Amino acid sequence: MDGKTCIRIQASYRIKTTMIKKGLLLSLLIVAGLSWMPCLAAQLVEHVFIISFDGGGGAPGMIEKNEQMHCFHQMVKEGASTWTARTTKPSITLPSHTSMLTGVGPEKHKILWNKWEPEKGLVSVPTVFSLAKAQGLGTAMFVGKEKFKHLKLPGSVDTFVWPHPKSDAKAVAAAVGRLLAQTNPSICFIHFADPDSIGHKFGWGSVQQEAALLDCDEALTQVRTAIAAAGMESSSVIILTADHGGHEKGHGTEDPVDMNIPWVAWGKGVKKGMHLIAPITTYDTAATALWLLGVRIPADWDGTPIKEAFSFQ
Ligand SMILES: [Zn+2]
Repeated sequence: MDGKTCIRIQASYRIKTTMIKKGLLLSLLIVAGLSWMPCLAAQLVEHVFIISFDGGGGAPGMIEKNEQMHCFHQMVKEGASTWTARTTKPSITLPSHTSMLTGVGPEKHKILWNKWEPEKGLVSVPTVFSLAKAQGLGTAMFVGKEKFKHLKLPGSVDTFVWPHPKSDAKAVAAAVGRLLAQTNPSICFIHFADPDSIGHKFGWGSVQQEAALLDCDEALTQVRTAIAAAGMESSSVIILTADHGGHEKGHGTEDPVDMNIPWVAWGKGVKKGMHLIAPITTYDTAATALWLLGVRIPADWDGTPIKEAFSFQ
């Protein structure tokens, strides 16, 4: 072998080695890319409504005992339910609702305060709204308290309504009706503040709170009517729940009177008349909503979907 032949062989060897390396690198990049890409799950329903009755928990709660709340109790009969789901600690409004709508406990979402404090900024973890929005879904929040602004991440909520100064359940429900007549969001959070505000004033279990809960039931009927009028009923799931219960004129303890909350799923694919046995925590609400909408659930979430409530496989 002369010198030139040897050089040609070495050059050919280097080209082949480079090609193999490039091929391996490309394969690795493809595998890495596939494992990084979110697993797109099937969308099981078109719309999820999460309706929270602020302070409507307990052991047993006022809603459970109040059979005059015909709409709520009818949905219990037609849905999958438990009266002993649990909120997160502390059992107060903003930390609990943040868990309900972010899928994680307070130690992760770090919202431990309970009023609108703009200097503290917005929630630092993704919400059901930001994750749904990232997948191109429509989002809406209707709230009875200003503090929910802490959950409104930029660009994540298409419609945010706090009907101040009249922000009772019926005003909130009327606002929901106006939106649904125009557009049909994929995920819609509705908050009825009345049982909590009346409970703090007159006490949990007072006749005044009982009346406030009846107002909320009428508001729930308004929302149901609006959903039906918009032609969304057969493609929706409605989750009825609460952020905490209460005793005397307050809440916030780890006692079941404060920690127990109702959790009711109603609508498309829900097993009718089912009593849910497995433990449910309020952050499972967020996971259930994302699962139903086919949105990937973040790996670090504490919440998991309550699949046993549904006939979907
Ligand atoms: Zn509350």
